[in-house]
Amino acid sequence: MVATTASANVSGLTGRDAASRLRADGPNTVAPPPRRHLVTRIAHQLTDPLVVLLIAAAAVTSVLGDYPDTAVILLVVVVNTVIGVSQEVRADAAVTALDRMTAPTARVVRDGRHLVIPAADVVRDDLVHLEPGDVVPADLRLREAHRFQVDEAALTGESVPVAQEAGADVYAGTVVVTGRAAGTVVRTGPASALGRIAQLVATTRPGPTPLQRRLAGLSRTLGITALVLSAVVFAIGVASGRAAIDMAITAVSLVVAAVPESLPAVVTLALALGARRMAGARAIPRRLHAVETLGSVTVVASDKTGTLTEGRMAVQQAVAAHGVTYRVRGSGYSPAGELFDAADHPVAAPPALRDLARAVLLCNDATLTPPDGENPQWTAVGDPMEAALVAFAGRCGLDPEAERAAWTRVAEVPFDQDTRRMTTVHRRPDGGYLLVCKGAPESVLAAPLVERTPSGMLSNAYRMAAAGLRVLAVATAESDAAPDLRTVNDLRPAGLVAVGDPLRAQAPGIATAFDDAGIHLVLITGDHPATAAAIGSQLGIWRGGDGVVRGDEGGVTAYGVGDRRVFARIQPEQKLDIIAALQERGHVVAMTGDGVNDAPALRRADIGVAMGGGTEVARQAADLVLVDDNLATVGAAVAEGRRIYDNIRRFLRYALAGGTAEILVMLAGPFLGLAVPLLPAQILWINLLTHGLPGVALGAEPAEPGTMRRPPRSPQESVLGAGLLRSVLLAGSLLAAVVLAAAVGASALDLPWQSVAFVVLGLGQLGIALAVRAPRRAGGGRNHALTAAVAVSALMQLAGVLVPPLRDLLGTEYLSANDLAACAAVATLPGLAVWLAERASGPRNSIPATGSATRMGPAGGVIE
Ligand code: ATP
Repeated sequence: MVATTASANVSGLTGRDAASRLRADGPNTVAPPPRRHLVTRIAHQLTDPLVVLLIAAAAVTSVLGDYPDTAVILLVVVVNTVIGVSQEVRADAAVTALDRMTAPTARVVRDGRHLVIPAADVVRDDLVHLEPGDVVPADLRLREAHRFQVDEAALTGESVPVAQEAGADVYAGTVVVTGRAAGTVVRTGPASALGRIAQLVATTRPGPTPLQRRLAGLSRTLGITALVLSAVVFAIGVASGRAAIDMAITAVSLVVAAVPESLPAVVTLALALGARRMAGARAIPRRLHAVETLGSVTVVASDKTGTLTEGRMAVQQAVAAHGVTYRVRGSGYSPAGELFDAADHPVAAPPALRDLARAVLLCNDATLTPPDGENPQWTAVGDPMEAALVAFAGRCGLDPEAERAAWTRVAEVPFDQDTRRMTTVHRRPDGGYLLVCKGAPESVLAAPLVERTPSGMLSNAYRMAAAGLRVLAVATAESDAAPDLRTVNDLRPAGLVAVGDPLRAQAPGIATAFDDAGIHLVLITGDHPATAAAIGSQLGIWRGGDGVVRGDEGGVTAYGVGDRRVFARIQPEQKLDIIAALQERGHVVAMTGDGVNDAPALRRADIGVAMGGGTEVARQAADLVLVDDNLATVGAAVAEGRRIYDNIRRFLRYALAGGTAEILVMLAGPFLGLAVPLLPAQILWINLLTHGLPGVALGAEPAEPGTMRRPPRSPQESVLGAGLLRSVLLAGSLLAAVVLAAAVGASALDLPWQSVAFVVLGLGQLGIALAVRAPRRAGGGRNHALTAAVAVSALMQLAGVLVPPLRDLLGTEYLSANDLAACAAVATLPGLAVWLAERASGPRNSIPATGSATRMGPAGGVIE
C-alpha cells in the first residue's frame, strides 16, 4: 500500500503524491469561514434602516407620479449599495491577504528535502519535524523523539508538559515544549482532532473592533438626532401649508443626507487598508483591532535578546577557578580565537581555564557547523548562548567533538527558568564521574550547592554584569560513583564566563523615537539586574539611581512597577503580572515575545508582538508579527495606527459638518422667507456627491507631520473628543449661515435662490473636505485621489444647474457663469475659515520637542 511505503520512507512523500492527497482529502484546516455571497452583501446593504426609508420614499413618489424624485432616490440607493459592497469586498480581500501571510506553517520532508509549508497543505503520511514552539499541525504518530514534551492544554485544558516517546500519537493543536521529534501524519483537517485548534489558529474572523462598535453607537445617535430634527422640518413645512407627502419625502431625504451612512464602510476600509500598508512595512497585523489599538499604545515592553540586541553571542571574559580573569576574542561562532591576560598579553589557556571551558562545553546542547559552500560562516544549532560557549571552548584549545566523545554524558537536568541552571553528569575518560552545573551566579554559587565561594568571584560576577554581560557561574564535582542528581551538593566553583550580545545599532534611537511619541520603552529580561541596568543605560532608559524591578524578589505589583523601565530576572509567567500592573496604571501595553511560554502574555497584552523568526505558538497568539524582528517596525506600525485614526476623525469632521449644515438650512430657511430651501432630489444629489468619492478618499490622507511627536490618544477619549464635536458644530453653522445668506441675497436680487442655495451648499462642503486634509509634510506627497474626487464632485454639482436634463431631474434653474462664480466664491468661505482655524491651533496635542513632558519620572530605589 502506498501509505506504508511512504511512512517508512525517511525522504517523505513525493511532491506529486502530496498534491494528489491534498486534492483527495482537502486542506488541513477546520472549515474556513464561509465566503459571503454577493447577493447576501447586497441584501445586507439594502436592509440598512436608512436605505429602507429611501426605498419606501421611492415607492411613494412613483405612486404619486413624481418620477424625477423617484429616479434620484433610486440613483442614491444604487450608488450607496455599490460603494458599500465594493468597500466591504476590498476590506475582506485585505484581511484575507493578511491571514494568508501569518497562516500557520509546518516543517515537512518531501522528495527528501526539508520544507516549510502552510499547515493547510499537510497531507496524510507527510513526514513532519517538530521543534519547541511548534504547534502540531495534524494528528501524528511519532517515529523518533528526543527529550520530547508537548503541552496538551488545547486538548485537556491542563497546561502540563507531557513526555512522548517514539510510537506515541500526538494531536493537532498541542504545542511542543522541549526536545524534538519527527512523525508521520495519520489524520488531517476535520478528520483529525482538529476542531480544538480552531481557537489557536484563529481562522474565524473576530467581531467588530472597539472603534467600530463605538462608531456604530455614534451612528445610531446621529440617526435619531437627524430623525427628530427632520420631524421638526416636516412640522414647520406642514404648518406653513405645504403638502404633507412632499414634506415627508423632504424629511426622509434630509435624514439620509445628514447621517454619514458610509461611516462603517469608510472605517472598515481604512483599517483594512492600513493593515495592508503595515504589512508592506513588515509589521503584519493579525487582527484588525490591532491597527486602531496601536495608535494608543503607551508602553512597549520588549525582550532583550534578539529584539534589542543582535542575538550574536560571544564569550568576552572568563574567570578561572584560581581567580584570574582572561579576555577572549574571536569572530562569530568560529572556534578559532585568542586569549589575553589582565595585562592584555596573548596567552595560551592554563589548565584551570581549560577545565572551565571543558565544563561549559559538556554541560551544553549546542553544536557548531563549519563553513560550507552555502554558508561562509560557522553556524550554530541550538541555544545561541550555548553555541558561544562551544566556540569559547575551541578558543581555549579544546576540540569540542573529541571532548564530548571522551566525556560521555550519562545524566542531566535540563536548563530550567525557575532554577536558572543546568546540570549534567559525565563519565571521565580515566574512570569516575564529573558533575557540571552551570547557570545564574546566585543560583549556582549559593549553598547548599556550593559551600564556600571565594568573595572575589562574586565581585567579579557583579563587575562583569554591570558591564552589560550575561554572567554564568560554573561549579563541578568529581566522584568515583555516579552522583545522585536529586541530592547534589558540595560542588566546587570552577569559574565564571561572561557572554556579550551587542546592542543593535538602532536600539538607542528607537528608545528616543518612542519617547518623542510619548511611548515608554520598557526592558524585560531574565538576566541579572546589573546586566539589565547596564543595557538599559546604553538604551537611554535607565540612569544611575533608577530602580530595577526584580522578578526573583517577591511578586510584580502595580506599586512595585511604578514608573520603572527595567525588569530583570523575569520569568515568562511574570510577564502577565507586569502587563496587569502596567494596565492598572492606565497604560496600553504592547509586549514582545517569541518563546513557547510567551503565548499567554502575548494574548493578555493590548498588542502582542511576535517576531517572524520566533515560534509558531507565539506568532499565532500575537496581534502583530514583525517580519524583520526589528522593534523599530513597531514604531512604523504605531504611526500608521495614528494616521488611520486621524483620518477617521477627518472624515467625521467633514461629513458631520455637512449634515449639520443641511439640517440647519432646512430648519432656519422658512423663518427667513425661504419656504422650502431645498427639494428632496437636491438634498440627495448633494449627499451623493459629498459622501461618495471625497469621503472615501479622505481615508487615504497621508500622516500629518509630527504624528510621532505627540502623545498617544487616550483610549477612553470619545472619537468626537478633543474638540472635534465643537469644530463640527462651528463649521456646520458657518456653512449654513453662508448658504442662507447667499439664498436670501439671491432672492432679493430676484435670482433663482433655491438653486443658489443648492450650489453653495454642495461646493461649501467640498471646500471643507479640502480644508480638513492633512497638512503637507516637507517632501511628503499629496493624496491626489482626494483632489480628483473633489474636482469631479464639484463638476457634477455645477452640472446640476447647467445640464438641462439634470435640471429637470433636480428641479433646479439655470444660473449664469457670473452667478456661479459668485456662488463658488461665497462657498469657499467656510472651508477657508476651517483651514485658518486649523493652522492657528497648530499641530494638535503637540508636546515639547524634547518629549520631557512624557518621560517617566525618576524612580526610587537603587539596585543592590
Ligand atoms: P533575555 O530575553 O533577556 O535573553 P531570557 O528571559 O530569555 O532573557 P533566560 O533564558 O530565562 O533569560 O535566562 C535567565 C538566566 O538563566 C540567564 O541570565 C542565565 O544566568 C541563565 N541561563 C540561561 N540559559 C542558560 C543555560 N542554557 N544554561 C544555564 N543557565 C542559563
